[in-house]
Amino acid sequence: MTVRVRFAPSPTGYLHVGGARTALINWLFAKKHGGTFILRIEDTDEARSTPEMTQAILGGLSWLGITWDEGPFFQSERKALYAATADKLLASGGAYRCFCTKEAIASRKAALAKPDEWKYDGLCRSISEQESKRRAASGEPFVIRCKVPKEAIEWDDIIKGPIRFEPQEVEDFILVRSDKTPTYHLSVVSDDVQMQMTHVIRGEDHISNTPKQIAIYRALGAATPLFGHLPLILGPDQKKLSKRHGVTSVMAYRDEGILPLALFNFLAQLGVNLGEEPYLTLSEIITRFDLNAVKKSASVFDRAKLTFINAKVISGTPPCELAQLLHPFLAALLENAPEPDEAAVSVMATRAKDMKDLAAALVPFLTEDFVYDAKAMEKATKDRTGLEALRALLPKLQAVAPEDWAPEKLETLVRAHAEESGVKAGALIHPIRVFLIGRAESPGIFDLLFAMGRERTLARLRRGLAKMG
Ligand code: GLU
Repeated sequence: MTVRVRFAPSPTGYLHVGGARTALINWLFAKKHGGTFILRIEDTDEARSTPEMTQAILGGLSWLGITWDEGPFFQSERKALYAATADKLLASGGAYRCFCTKEAIASRKAALAKPDEWKYDGLCRSISEQESKRRAASGEPFVIRCKVPKEAIEWDDIIKGPIRFEPQEVEDFILVRSDKTPTYHLSVVSDDVQMQMTHVIRGEDHISNTPKQIAIYRALGAATPLFGHLPLILGPDQKKLSKRHGVTSVMAYRDEGILPLALFNFLAQLGVNLGEEPYLTLSEIITRFDLNAVKKSASVFDRAKLTFINAKVISGTPPCELAQLLHPFLAALLENAPEPDEAAVSVMATRAKDMKDLAAALVPFLTEDFVYDAKAMEKATKDRTGLEALRALLPKLQAVAPEDWAPEKLETLVRAHAEESGVKAGALIHPIRVFLIGRAESPGIFDLLFAMGRERTLARLRRGLAKMG
């Protein structure tokens, strides 16, 4: 069997982390088994679907590195198929016309002890075919309902295990509304049959839809795919992840400076143990991915873990690639930002938690007009003896040959000078750091000196010392 799976978003909102995780699991499953991953846009709700959202979803998937083998198919262009499926179901007796008006249903419902537990009572099931056709031909409005067999519907969920619905839990649900539009259940099964899906893997919020959809497969005499329902993603408060928890759209993470590989790793390991490494390449993830190992229970969205993975991905990405990815983040900070050089990117990337942070850390490499943190400045320059010793270090730095301007040699030089001057190395290092970049924190100071280069280092140290009198 060749695996065929799909991601079927409704373009009524952005691609959020829940949807992205569903897409990614399907994609991984297809890749793992040499299968086909299909993208289907479920845009039948014309009032709520927009082309902008479709583009945003496609953009989000592409950014994450999720590519599709077939599609995107648009349900709005496939209405003829849904009408044909409904006709087929009517003809085979798997569905029937229901002429109950909204008012009639409302009054039967109101008569119940617990109206909220109302399920369609099957009143129109008994209308003969002839009568049904006659009433339809006379223009009486109707919906088409699935004739759900009065038997339990169960399936062995590939993630959740066996799931069973009792007959009274599944009503004769609507397939076609009175305005002739297909419902979600009809269009999704028509497509899944026609597109020959072998597995339907989606969020667990769809579990209650599955018995209805299985009823349609059975009525059509079509083979049912295997179903797998992914557990929910929860916020830190153990409630379903939502906007209340802050950013959940994939593109917003991009704009915050999360790299796609980091988000991919983060989502791939939500509820799946992929190993001890902070992150893996996509091909390693495919190799290790196993749908059977997906946890049944919900996972908590741990933002700190995403930040941790992102920092690791940033420091593991070649500086030339980072330099490319930095453009929008630098442009937001500096007008006409020059390209940062690789040495600077490479050093500063070792401590950046996201791309915004990295861009900010690179500003002192790109302009003389950066901010000196006043507190850091005050603290680092309190020790006058240290500043004197630093002044005496300048000619020694000046004398370093360009080819010797390297972290180890600079470290030897600075430490020896501290010793000679009778000060601690920190007494030199702290003011050096703050004069060079205006902040109290940075990656290793000798790497920083190296990346800053000799001339710029000397100029900034001189300027800093002059300011201190
Ligand atoms: N369009 C549905 C949604 O956005 C998904 C349908 C499915 O996966 O069966 O939730």
